[in-house]
Amino acid sequence: MKYVDEYRDRKMAEKLAAEIRRTVTKPWAIMEVCGGQTHSIVKYGIDYLLPTEVELVHGPGCPVCVTPLQMIDRAHAIARQPHVIFCSFGDMLRVPGSTGDLFQVKAAGADVRIVYSPLDCLKIAAANPSKQVVFFAIGFETTAPANAMAVWQARQQGIRNFSVLVSHVLVPPAIAGILDSPDNRVQAFLGPGHVCAVMGYREYEPIAARYSTPIVITGFEPLDLLEGTLMAVRQLEQRRAEVENQYGRAVNPDGNTDAQRMIRRVFEVCDRGWRGIGLIPLSGYRLNDEFGDYDAERVFDLAPINSPEPSACISGQVLKGLKKPHDCPAFGKECTPQSPFGATMVSAEGACAAYYNYGRHLVALSSPAGRS
Ligand code: SF4
Repeated sequence: MKYVDEYRDRKMAEKLAAEIRRTVTKPWAIMEVCGGQTHSIVKYGIDYLLPTEVELVHGPGCPVCVTPLQMIDRAHAIARQPHVIFCSFGDMLRVPGSTGDLFQVKAAGADVRIVYSPLDCLKIAAANPSKQVVFFAIGFETTAPANAMAVWQARQQGIRNFSVLVSHVLVPPAIAGILDSPDNRVQAFLGPGHVCAVMGYREYEPIAARYSTPIVITGFEPLDLLEGTLMAVRQLEQRRAEVENQYGRAVNPDGNTDAQRMIRRVFEVCDRGWRGIGLIPLSGYRLNDEFGDYDAERVFDLAPINSPEPSACISGQVLKGLKKPHDCPAFGKECTPQSPFGATMVSAEGACAAYYNYGRHLVALSSPAGRS
């Protein structure tokens, strides 16, 4: 397949791994930010190819995983209301709230539907004028343009029975939050290729400079990840701390300025809670006042919901790169994709699900992924 197979070439992968081995002289911990990158690393065994000095730790870049439990419970409370059609991407339906998941809410009689685009909701709203159609708008900067477009289109088309429950999060404040944490051990980042395709990478430059931390914007295929790791190791060994772009075939410094304009038109930056991490200032989007009528939090006057995280789940430490999934006593035992405790076991991009799906619960803790 053109444009994919080229980035999975075994010989090139071995060459890059050999170059990393030649370059490294001391231990380094490098965080891949995106859940998609984590999945590729585990699926293709990239971490097994690396020398023992280079540890890849998994970051918070899985949007389903970092959506707070409280927000999931809010979604369930809205979906249970009789006049509501609640729409979401499929992976949110299995994420456990305090009392079950959206599939169970649906089984109890709620009208919960899977959509493939937020724009699908506008058609549903037009076809069901007596219902309030709510879309669960989660994700990083990557999904924000389409969600903003749906709200903007709803206003353009005069659709009033549509709203969005927004839980958007932003990558740069999360990277800064990890670096500010007193227990941080991350020394370089493989930056989020898909987010930077939308946003560019200029906003990462002050972070790299302020924290003296290399950030290499990196793609998702095995050769992308190995090359990004090599670029990060070179910077660390040479005591450089710059933003470099490994993913030049998709990312330019300024990103997609049309998409950014659409985001700015509809959303504004706000403080946002991250599941397992807590509140990070200025780390999310919410609808601005001009589009407030489309905000499900205003349409539905819900009582405050306080949802404590299950104590057995250490996904917060997994999301900050402090622990690996198999450091969790429940991993692969009480907690599996069939009966997940936490969102990192549910989401297709979650680190716990990746470790489980690719058999890491069957390997000894002395594996590369077991280093910590
Ligand atoms: S294995 Fe399950 S319980 Fe443990 S951190 Fe992952 S999601 Fe949470």
